[in-house]
Amino acid sequence: MGALERGRFAEEMMLDLTDCCGSGPESEPASAHNHHKSTIERSVKVLLQGLGEDGEREGIRRTPLRVAKAFAQGTRGYRQKVREIVQGALFPEAGLDNGAGYAGGDGGLVVVRDIDLFSYCESCLLPFSVQCHVGYVPSGQRVLGLSKLSRVADVFAKRLQEPQRLANEICAALQNSINPAGVAVALNCWHIEFLAALQCNPNPRHPSIHGMQGWLCSSVCSSSGVFKQD
Ligand SMILES: [Zn+2]
Repeated sequence: MGALERGRFAEEMMLDLTDCCGSGPESEPASAHNHHKSTIERSVKVLLQGLGEDGEREGIRRTPLRVAKAFAQGTRGYRQKVREIVQGALFPEAGLDNGAGYAGGDGGLVVVRDIDLFSYCESCLLPFSVQCHVGYVPSGQRVLGLSKLSRVADVFAKRLQEPQRLANEICAALQNSINPAGVAVALNCWHIEFLAALQCNPNPRHPSIHGMQGWLCSSVCSSSGVFKQD
């Protein structure tokens, strides 16, 4: 992950806290949403007490509320449905007059690379950065709007996750919703290395990229249909 990607990650982490509580069509009922947030808020107050902090100190007085809003936003995928994102976004593949579509529908491949996401690590609750590549072979001359691919991936990123399950869930969701000949999902996940004994991701490696010291990278993939390897 280069400086540009890190910049995007930082931007994404700069949560628009005023938007965290917005109630969209995919939101749970406001009463349940508020109940969950207040539970998280109380828990963070206890956490700060456990750390020996003065909860009334100016710098952290509003931290429980901010953390509750951040988690509400960062786990919004639990309240979203892939079906609603894909619905109405499947298009006949253009350019099939000569037997092969512009999107590669005649046995070709649609690829979207470098989808930048972030997710929450289920092992330690810290956010980690995800670089996602998705490819699929359309069937039935149907293709999904390209922007929807990243939105579907984000539904599963915005949950408590670990890299392999995240890849599997994105792959299965695209396979089930588009019904293509096959889907392949590859992820590079970047998790901060802050405690050697706490190894959250599978087979992590230290990146050779300058400026990425202190991060661990895990690469995973998931596939279905024609991409499935025996
Ligand atoms: Zn972790």
